[in-house]
Amino acid sequence: MQVVTEIAELKKAVAAHRVQGHSVGLVPTMGYLHAGHASLLAQARKESDAVVLSVFVNPTQFGPNEDLDRYPRNKEGDLQLAEANGVDIVFLPEASEMYPRPSATRISVGGITDKLCGASRPGHFDGVALVVSKLFHLVGPDRAYFGMKDAQQVAVISRMVEDLNLPVEIVPCPIVRAEDGLALSSRNVYLSADERAQALVLSETLRRAPEWLAEAGGDAEGLKARIRARIGEMPLADIDYVEVLTYPGLAPAFGAEAAESAWIVALAVRFGKTRLIDNRLLTRQEIAEALASPLQAAKGE
Ligand code: AMP
Repeated sequence: MQVVTEIAELKKAVAAHRVQGHSVGLVPTMGYLHAGHASLLAQARKESDAVVLSVFVNPTQFGPNEDLDRYPRNKEGDLQLAEANGVDIVFLPEASEMYPRPSATRISVGGITDKLCGASRPGHFDGVALVVSKLFHLVGPDRAYFGMKDAQQVAVISRMVEDLNLPVEIVPCPIVRAEDGLALSSRNVYLSADERAQALVLSETLRRAPEWLAEAGGDAEGLKARIRARIGEMPLADIDYVEVLTYPGLAPAFGAEAAESAWIVALAVRFGKTRLIDNRLLTRQEIAEALASPLQAAKGE
């Protein structure tokens, strides 16, 4: 495994694989790696000859009052996890390597970034789109792997790739959870024992979403109200958003467009200082099944 910190070294290392005709898979991360990141690396390992992992806490995607300075870091642990997952090249740049001077160029994906985390974190997705497009240009991967834990990020990057005809395939990977249901996140390390226990309400409400959608007669507003009420029972929970939208279009979940699309149930909730996000997709089939459930039939009688 090669560990590089400079762009020139990264390009050389990738070129050495390219001359051998190797395909390249890229997994961009901010480090403090866990089993969620490992699942992306495993998928990349299966599909690509050379796996490139980037570990970079990207300052341009953090707002002025966010946790950039205290974002957890563990270089040794990250390198061990990378080695164990068959990574070929680790790119670990300093901020000054990625941004020798502030970027005058912005990459702004419109529309879908107004909602969810884009609404709560202004400028966040511009920073994500900027760093991901820089990484795409530096590595030139055939495929890039992103977790559905950050489903809006997948929608934004996919749209950027489509709009700009970038020659890379975006591979979305499923959310990896702890045994008790909590979605793995580098930020979970901030949680106190009480906060962590109460944070289980996120995965619990997502698990029950199909049933609650049925009970609400397929009405997204009814489902949202039910989820809000349940999360509200947790004294340490402070809701940022509870949304039900189409996916990947992130349009309101009613009307003709919504009837043709998958939906996302997306949550952002603070426990103490820690903001957690989680989500679940509802496929057309799951929505149809919810609506056809015996509960619905009983209502109609
Ligand atoms: P981060 O280091 O948090 O920026 O995440 C890097 C990549 O790992 C992103 O594509 C995330 O969506 C993905 N990721 C983070 N947590 C998980 C998880 N629990 N399951 C699947 N993918 C994840």
